[in-house]
Amino acid sequence: MATREHFRVAVIGTGFGGLGAGVRLRREGVTDFVILERADSVGGTWRDNSYPGCACDVPSHLYSFSFAPNPDWPRAFSGQPHIRAYLERVTDIFGLRPHIRFNSEVEEARWDEEARHWRLRTARGELTADVVVSATGPLSDPRIPDIKGLETFPGKVFHSSRWDHDYDLKGKRVAMVGTGASAIQIVPAIQPRVDRLTVVQRTPPWVMPRMDRGINAAEKWLHAKVPASHKARRGLLWLIREFQVGAFVRRPQLMKATEQIARAHIRRAVKDPVLRAKVTPDYTIGCKRILLSNDYYPALAAPNTEVVDAGLTEVRGSTIVTADGTEREVDAIVFGTGFHVTDMPIGDRIHGVGGRTLAEHWKDGMAALRGSTIDGFPNLVMIIGPNTGLGNSSMILMIESSLNYLADYLATLESTGAAALNARPEAVRSWNAELQRRMERTVWNTGGCVSWYLDASGRNTTLWPGTTAEFRRATQRLKPQEYEVLRAPAERTGSSEASAEVAA
Ligand SMILES: Cc1cc2nc3c(=O)[nH]c(=O)nc-3n(C[C@H](O)[C@H](O)[C@H](O)COP(=O)(O)OP(=O)(O)OC[C@H]3O[C@@H](n4cnc5c(N)ncnc54)[C@H](O)[C@@H]3O)c2cc1C
Repeated sequence: MATREHFRVAVIGTGFGGLGAGVRLRREGVTDFVILERADSVGGTWRDNSYPGCACDVPSHLYSFSFAPNPDWPRAFSGQPHIRAYLERVTDIFGLRPHIRFNSEVEEARWDEEARHWRLRTARGELTADVVVSATGPLSDPRIPDIKGLETFPGKVFHSSRWDHDYDLKGKRVAMVGTGASAIQIVPAIQPRVDRLTVVQRTPPWVMPRMDRGINAAEKWLHAKVPASHKARRGLLWLIREFQVGAFVRRPQLMKATEQIARAHIRRAVKDPVLRAKVTPDYTIGCKRILLSNDYYPALAAPNTEVVDAGLTEVRGSTIVTADGTEREVDAIVFGTGFHVTDMPIGDRIHGVGGRTLAEHWKDGMAALRGSTIDGFPNLVMIIGPNTGLGNSSMILMIESSLNYLADYLATLESTGAAALNARPEAVRSWNAELQRRMERTVWNTGGCVSWYLDASGRNTTLWPGTTAEFRRATQRLKPQEYEVLRAPAERTGSSEASAEVAA
């Protein structure tokens, strides 16, 4: 029988999460690890999303690793090519390339109860690992709605995260389906080039002015020469966002002042009362992600743009039909319809104790302990798992907190000599009961909108209802009493002795 390669840790994904995990593992002295990536380069989100206008919407000096400051960010909100290049540099500077296997999609990860490790089947062969770190990203697998007749469309169809750069939109009649974070960056970028732009809107977003500007040479010089200045800038950006959290989670009524700014933003750019009414949301600001743009509304008001405030229901040949019954002929359909967030495909591929998939385990909603571990899935650690998303700040802060937890998880395995740790179901339950209790008052649950934050049953299993500092504290140390210990096979004398408390 061919022997499989074995690793202490197998990381899945090379976005901020997977690369961050690689850096952290090396810092903790773990070198026996592999990073498996389905694509042929690093970058995750920032490799896949190359649509015109793609940029971060959290300032770059905060939307980057604390351990890899970049004094050279060109703009307050830098574009995708710069973020992707940053991640390529992080890969090289921290010596991660030898650990990465590209074109190695993880097709299955199965917990081997006898051997007490994971067996992974990838597109390029099989391997085993003591610990699997899943960093497959919450916004990684594009979602295109099931539209009747779409397969008959003779023109071009693509998703915002799989942009076809070989297809020239110049002079074309284009339908942009969706008005979320990607769409509002795409619309102003393509509107001047296309012949006709039809924006198919189900629900309008609240859009705030974007305080973007170029970072000047003096600032870059200062950040490079005086690292404390970079730290101070980052600290300030972080602090402002920490203070905003209260309004999102405890006092949604405080969002009213923000709403006034957003209303004025619409009034300034949109003079036509019919269009104004169409683009003004009827739910509390913050309920869906607040978007930032200075050129979205002007692009909607341009003579070659039409906003249809009814969802896409059908495609008949080259005609799109919307819920209001109207029809338009188009050459291309671009879907800015988001991702599989609460039904992530990796869920069908990870099999825990008893062969149960994560998707089956989560059929009533995603739930993890401290956004990281799941009962029945020993030695599986997620980077930004359920309820770690943010409405207003940088996900890199949450990723770095998840990495603290991962480091302590591995240290606990070492110090206890355990083969594996399995989150106790009651620990997962109580963590999530408290999360859902805190969620009740949030603007995401009470603001009167339907958003991708909520799963099919209306539970918010995506966002973190607190500050990033709170999450950092919650993930600083693993609480031994929240886990059962699984011993290595050789140490077992009988199944009843297979588990024990971790020594506190
Ligand atoms: C357009 C866009 C803009 C965004 N802007 C911001 C922002 O401004 N601020 C912010 O905080 N957040 C933003 N986000 C959220 C963003 O997703 C996170 O900030 C962060 O990049 C997530 O990193 P990640 O490593 O967890 O996931 P990803 O970057 O999605 O990386 C996941 C990786 O896993 C790989 N993978 C998935 N499945 C498998 C498999 N089965 N086998 C092998 N490899 C696999 C993927 O190919 C990918 O490389 C944005 C998201 C999008 C889509």
